[in-house]
Amino acid sequence: MSVESLITWGVRVARHRSEIDPNRRQLLRALGGLGALSLAGLPLPAAAGSRVERLRMSVDGETTRLVFDMEGEADYELFHLQSPDRLVVDLANANTDATLEINDHPRSVIEGVRHAPRNGSDLRVVLDLREPVDPRSFQLMPAQDSPHRLVLDLTRKSSSGTSRAPADDDEGAEPRRGRSQEDLRDVIVAIDAGHGGHDPGAIGPGGTREKDVALEVSQRLAELIEDEWGMKAEMIRTGDYFLPLRERVNRAREADADVFVSIHADAFPDSSVNGSSVYMLSEGGASSEAARFLAERENQADLRLGGVPMNGKDDSLSNVLLDLAQSGSLEASSTLAERMIDELDRVGKVRRPKVERANFAVLRSPDVPSILVEAGFISNPQDERRLRSSSYQQSLAEALLTGLRAYFSTHARPGTLIADGGEDMEKHIIRPGETLSGIAENYSVSPSRLREVNGVSGDTIYTGQVLEVPSRGS
Ligand SMILES: [Zn+2]
Repeated sequence: MSVESLITWGVRVARHRSEIDPNRRQLLRALGGLGALSLAGLPLPAAAGSRVERLRMSVDGETTRLVFDMEGEADYELFHLQSPDRLVVDLANANTDATLEINDHPRSVIEGVRHAPRNGSDLRVVLDLREPVDPRSFQLMPAQDSPHRLVLDLTRKSSSGTSRAPADDDEGAEPRRGRSQEDLRDVIVAIDAGHGGHDPGAIGPGGTREKDVALEVSQRLAELIEDEWGMKAEMIRTGDYFLPLRERVNRAREADADVFVSIHADAFPDSSVNGSSVYMLSEGGASSEAARFLAERENQADLRLGGVPMNGKDDSLSNVLLDLAQSGSLEASSTLAERMIDELDRVGKVRRPKVERANFAVLRSPDVPSILVEAGFISNPQDERRLRSSSYQQSLAEALLTGLRAYFSTHARPGTLIADGGEDMEKHIIRPGETLSGIAENYSVSPSRLREVNGVSGDTIYTGQVLEVPSRGS
């Protein structure tokens, strides 16, 4: 049994803890003892009191995550109340000095939070809900700079596909109407230019610095994304300064990024090694010796330069895997990496046709599919020359954009323009002599709608261009 499946199993069991037999308890406690995770409500020895320090909320698609930062482990019960919908978290032997407020977020299922002491020694926290939810909960042990955490994931009950197109006879359903564009959002691509500031990254035989190439390619990609319908770029590093790896991960998560793309151009002792490669986080060992070597190099940025290292026992991989197992991020990361490799293969040599896997600290986002692109080997004289050239940088950026398009065509989250647009769109390949207004007329859509959908301004179109055409109603 892999560590991952153990953990997944553990989380499932924790919600039915009365069914856990003593042997399994031993096993689960052993896992917890490794610093991997702690399980809700298991009778742990020396259950000292706990305190809620603060609440943090984030929204990812249909799921609202509420994190209780705790001093000490939580001993808690979770239950539902209806009319109106509320979720009650009873914490035994617990208190708080904090106000336990959350920011209002339009997509959150939580309308408000109240709390009060109970039974002299306990704490009750009540979440007022905007709609019924499926709750999941688990605890995380302290990590590098994080305390004990109690995590609640509240997923909309109506999120299983019916919410998008309610049947007309649905009780209480609003009159059917097209969803306005304002309700839908762009997908957000976090672009992380590797290294920066006092960390130059690898340096080529001609003196080219990895941090400069990474930033230039990132900026080109960001510009392309800004011109792309339905996509938005979030640059993690915008200039020549250093950012610790954890900070990069945090910024992507705070931006509610849909994907995280870290851009590098690495080095290898053997200068004949060349070509691009794409990496994702490994669940265990590295996929090759070279992958392991590169991951160690990249992770060193923090160790050498005074950032907080993300390796080590207190930020165990198991801890991260717990989250990954729940969110399906690894599967999505793998798809994204494959799409990128397909496109990079068109602009230059791809070193390995398969997605490489290794334990890169910067890819450890539990809920954002993350990949690392090595755009080439700066230690190879030919690669170095190409990486410096603006035309090659532009080709790389275009390849990455095309890879992102391909990924989002199947993986855009509900509520995004791309996910919504994908349903009712047809593709039209422009033939010689066609005009934008003529095409609009043929498909019975307005020229302005056609421009909006395709991010086209004016009437400039070209033969062979592929237009998305709304095929009904919208
Ligand atoms: Zn690098």
